[in-house]
Amino acid sequence: MSLDFSFSEEHQKFRAHVREFARAEIAPYVKEWDEVEQLPTHGILPKMGAAGLIGITGPKSLGGGEKDYISLGIAIEELGRVDTSCAMICSVNNTMSTLIPGWGDDVVRSVFRGEKLLSIATSEDNSGSDVANLETTAAIEGDRFVINGKKIHVSLMPGADYMGVTAWVDWKDGKKPRITFIKVPSDTPGVSCEPMEEMGCRGHQLGIVHLKDVKVPVTDVLGGKGAGKEVLYARWGVSRCLSALNAIGAAQQVLDDTIAFVKKKIVYGRPIAMYQGVSFPLIEHYTKIEACRLMAYKGLWMSVAGENPKMQATMAKWSSVTAAVECIQACLQMFGAAGYLKDLPVERRLRDVMALLFTGGTINIMKIIVIQELLGKEFAALREGGGEG
Ligand SMILES: Cc1cc2nc3c(=O)[nH]c(=O)nc-3n(C[C@H](O)[C@H](O)[C@H](O)COP(=O)(O)OP(=O)(O)OC[C@H]3O[C@@H](n4cnc5c(N)ncnc54)[C@H](O)[C@@H]3O)c2cc1C
Repeated sequence: MSLDFSFSEEHQKFRAHVREFARAEIAPYVKEWDEVEQLPTHGILPKMGAAGLIGITGPKSLGGGEKDYISLGIAIEELGRVDTSCAMICSVNNTMSTLIPGWGDDVVRSVFRGEKLLSIATSEDNSGSDVANLETTAAIEGDRFVINGKKIHVSLMPGADYMGVTAWVDWKDGKKPRITFIKVPSDTPGVSCEPMEEMGCRGHQLGIVHLKDVKVPVTDVLGGKGAGKEVLYARWGVSRCLSALNAIGAAQQVLDDTIAFVKKKIVYGRPIAMYQGVSFPLIEHYTKIEACRLMAYKGLWMSVAGENPKMQATMAKWSSVTAAVECIQACLQMFGAAGYLKDLPVERRLRDVMALLFTGGTINIMKIIVIQELLGKEFAALREGGGEG
């Protein structure tokens, strides 16, 4: 039998482990983190490290779990059921530490333990989708980069210990300056940061990062000289499937809660589940979420099999996040006005999942990537050198 949709026994055990961890350790604090808008407190990050939720695919020699990408997807889906922010923190730190080389073994070990956090600082005022339009520069002076620029929408900032910063570098090799990804410790002199207030995902923190004459060793390049765009793109195949599964986890939990609610809630003398105006949309959203889940896991399975999951991951990301937003919005209405109030988690779940419309590239940009693959680059209507955001 060559086609098999079942999860292995090891996958199922891991899912049960993450579900129990999320229920016991994360669920009690999610409302608090949303209210105070700060990165997880109560020692959750080291607990996530100790529970084997960071460095899931990383080498055992550095403290990783040496599991496959399906296991990573399971972790993000299960964390996403309880908290989109924690799932996002876990997703960024798993993929940044294992798919982007150059952090150094000590940093990677401490990330796997949940003691240090990594973040990606690429977006700028005029460079979100259009990655190549950035203005930050890293001038080479002796054996150091001197970095100047401003980054916005940086997840986990303030808070993360190290950033991967994109900047133009003139390598003085006779070629044009090229985008390079550089390791910058957040406490380097010249780095300053201010938080940006978010509508959702408020426990994951978003910030503006100013870089003024920031000096780091010229050897602290992540993934190779001038290979900034390629390094970022290398992560997308896995990270877009993870964004999809984060959204799917949230939608599935809301669906489960809604199904339990509509079977009990009596209006006009009957449970509202008996009205097909309620049950039909529930079934439709359930079906779409299941289809999206299959697409996301197929993308991860392709990564495990050594195939390029670009199309699968991109389609999974836009369709899953869109389906999750529509699903949660529909479920919210089924709770009546109670769904709109802060006592129930459903309004927060809707605000949270909307963050995924933008992380790692917008819905339109996902479609443009598919256009490039399906119809040809000339139909994507991007300017020369424009890439995926
Ligand atoms: C919660 C959150 C976390 C984030 N985390 C990070 C992070 O950690 N690091 C980081 O560097 N950035 C991060 N970002 C930024 C994110 O990557 C950008 O928001 C995203 O790439 C889009 O860029 P933009 O917001 O500048 O929109 P723009 O690029 O300005 O686009 C504006 C609108 O135009 C549309 N659009 C643009 N070009 C086209 C086109 N050719 N055809 C059709 N439509 C188009 C877009 O889809 C969008 O709707 C985060 C954002 C959010 C909301």
